[in-house]
Amino acid sequence: MAAPPAIRIGVSSCLLGQAVRFDGGHKRNPLLVETFGRFVEWIPVCPEVELGLGVPRETLRLTRTADGEVRMVTTKSGRDITAQMREWSRARTEALAGEGLSGYVLKKDSPSCGMERVTVSGGSGAALRTGRGLFAEALMARFPRLPIEDEGRLSDLRLRDNFVERAFAYRRLGALFAGRWQPDDLIRFHAVHELALLAHSPAIEAELARLAARGTSMARADLEIRYRDRFMDAMATLATTRKHANVLRRMAGRLAPLLGADAWQELQSNLEDYRLGLAPLVVPLALIRRHVRRHRVEQLAGQVYLDPHPTELMLRNHA
Ligand code: SF4
Repeated sequence: MAAPPAIRIGVSSCLLGQAVRFDGGHKRNPLLVETFGRFVEWIPVCPEVELGLGVPRETLRLTRTADGEVRMVTTKSGRDITAQMREWSRARTEALAGEGLSGYVLKKDSPSCGMERVTVSGGSGAALRTGRGLFAEALMARFPRLPIEDEGRLSDLRLRDNFVERAFAYRRLGALFAGRWQPDDLIRFHAVHELALLAHSPAIEAELARLAARGTSMARADLEIRYRDRFMDAMATLATTRKHANVLRRMAGRLAPLLGADAWQELQSNLEDYRLGLAPLVVPLALIRRHVRRHRVEQLAGQVYLDPHPTELMLRNHA
């Protein structure tokens, strides 16, 4: 069977090792290049180089004017390039809409690419880490529900899990709505994502189930927009041990009639170890996956929760 096409993710070029930084250097990130790179088709963008600032170049900074406006200026010569960067970012993000992206990884702290806590000088005097890079700002405004993270936050295992799961979910959602979908397609899509959604937000899962069931009683375009937005809102809510434990218990309940006493005891002990933080999520999940396959439990076999992304990414490996 042919491998599925790689997932397309936008990225700050310097994170891939491209020598595009102001000093001719790069910020190659081994996690992105070596681990994610096996599954991802990167779409690299360096805003400062694409804007024509060259390599090497004068550094940039964000500064706040007396009336509170954030401007982008060159550090030594003080040239204000806010208008150029904003205009270029608007056009570039519009072009990215045709790239089929399922996520984006930005370089932290950059006045162009940083998504949060970028240093802004001026104003009251003190430099505050309250800014957002101008390209990142345009990107997040153009794609408000696209999974976007910076490489610093991806070193947090829970945020990394969440980003990857969201990116693959975003791609599946895009594939559903790319075709001439029917209400039954949405019901099926929701059914296989039920447990994944419950691990993130039981409240939004219930809301989405009601939406999916509305079928032809709602204009398809409205249904698509509301389902799409709330689905990604749910996936952006961080899963917790408690919510995962509830989902695992629910799956165990469906397996209960099929398991002998020893297998049941082993499963219960796995669930308890996970709940107490003594074992990572992959441990009970691997056991449940084995039982689901061995006993051909159709109700669970198609659940995305069991296989949300390539196992080689070694996610869900933290307690
Ligand atoms: S942080 Fe962004 S603008 Fe700066 S070098 Fe990297 S890709 Fe280019």
